[in-house]
Amino acid sequence: MAYAISDECISCGACEAECPVNAISAGDGKYVIDAATCIECGACAGVCPVGAPSAQ
Ligand code: SF4
Ligand code: SF4
Repeated sequence: MAYAISDECISCGACEAECPVNAISAGDGKYVIDAATCIECGACAGVCPVGAPSAQ
């Protein structure tokens, strides 16, 4: 289980700095979460302006 970023992402980058385990990085057209690293803290969802990250 992990969080994932939907296509709603506008690549603002706000979530990347909030992740305590550095699981988020810029991808092709949106930011992406490394599912193997994510600890499901929810910090990314808390800062995203468009609600793109959600628990899967
Ligand atoms: Fe990082 Fe937490 Fe978001 Fe997982 S839920 S990607 S650990 S900020
Ligand atoms: Fe994308 Fe939201 Fe992260 Fe910004 S905060 S890069 S819109 S997922």
